[in-house]
Amino acid sequence: MSDTITLSGATLPDGRTRDVVLRNGRISVLRGPDHPYQRAFAGLDLAGYLLLPAPAEPHVHLDRALTWQPVGSDPDGRDGAIRSWRVRPARYGLGDLRRRSREALRTLTARGVTAVRTHLDIGDGRVPLRAVEVMAELRAEFHRVLDLQIVAMPAPGTTDRTIVDAVSAGARVIGGRPRLAPDCRQETRRLLRLADRAEVALDLHLDDGFDPRMLAVGDLARLLRASGFGRPVTASHLANLNRLSPSALGRVTETIAASRMRVVALPSPRGCGLPMRALLAAGVPVAAGGDHLRDTGHPMGRADPLATAAATGLAPDRAWAAVAGHARAVLGLESGGLEPGAPADLLAVRATSLAEALRTLPEDRIVIKSGHVIARTAPTRKVRVAA
Ligand SMILES: [Zn+2]
Repeated sequence: MSDTITLSGATLPDGRTRDVVLRNGRISVLRGPDHPYQRAFAGLDLAGYLLLPAPAEPHVHLDRALTWQPVGSDPDGRDGAIRSWRVRPARYGLGDLRRRSREALRTLTARGVTAVRTHLDIGDGRVPLRAVEVMAELRAEFHRVLDLQIVAMPAPGTTDRTIVDAVSAGARVIGGRPRLAPDCRQETRRLLRLADRAEVALDLHLDDGFDPRMLAVGDLARLLRASGFGRPVTASHLANLNRLSPSALGRVTETIAASRMRVVALPSPRGCGLPMRALLAAGVPVAAGGDHLRDTGHPMGRADPLATAAATGLAPDRAWAAVAGHARAVLGLESGGLEPGAPADLLAVRATSLAEALRTLPEDRIVIKSGHVIARTAPTRKVRVAA
């Protein structure tokens, strides 16, 4: 198979039309459409498509994906959803976990995502690491089409031993939700210590309890300063920041900006977003993720980065940065772009502009990973106006 391919006639986000030559997994050249050598290599006609750097999914729970139907709704809000998930393992076998996770990964791939960070519950039941083990298998199965990063997410009662074993089983990040522990600070310290010992990154669910008196993200920033922890740290959720006064929010955003912590927002119709504009203004490159895919927390998650970007409410270019460049940075990947030398991980969508794509969320998409087309969705539409 040739390692050179020309994408011809693509519309770029800035409105220009370009032929884009991909070579050896990277963008090689961008040319105007009247360039004499434009048909020199194998080609893909992208007339009518908008070409974007491929998005990444920085925060999803693949082990919970597609469980909405069997578990049913929970009227008690977020904690009710977490509790109903915690009693679930007896209901789902290994085969079910593998089937749902694979289906979710295929959906993400078709939507254009070429890198995923998934949080996975560990410590449940008799096989405490089964989600990590299944996902490590799927990581190998999907390695040609996406980079899959596993976060081991312990409950407060999960032992240190199990958390360290999860890293041996394939997790590259330690996660957790410290506010569920009797002592949130102590749990945060424990997870930081374990990440340090296992030499992996940390990605915590913080400040998602709708109680702004307890700002765990501020505690974490202070802990990081005191500990000298040198690995990447991500704070996810942070919905409590929405409830702060402008001056308190200003202080917290300054603390976050000074800590070099990454931040992931989870904008969704359930209102779990955070004040992205304030953080961006303070120089924090906030990423945005989908969190739920039709699970107990949200019956209608779409696993669609276009929908996530649209839900941020930001201007189109900043919204796309949140699900593309900023999201890749959370995963420790080099930032994608549309310039020579950038990785040829790209998404083409049937649209004339980014604003249109975020408004219409077109299903018509072509996904390119390392210079190769890995997914193509071409919906058909028939409308009969007259008999
Ligand atoms: Zn989450």
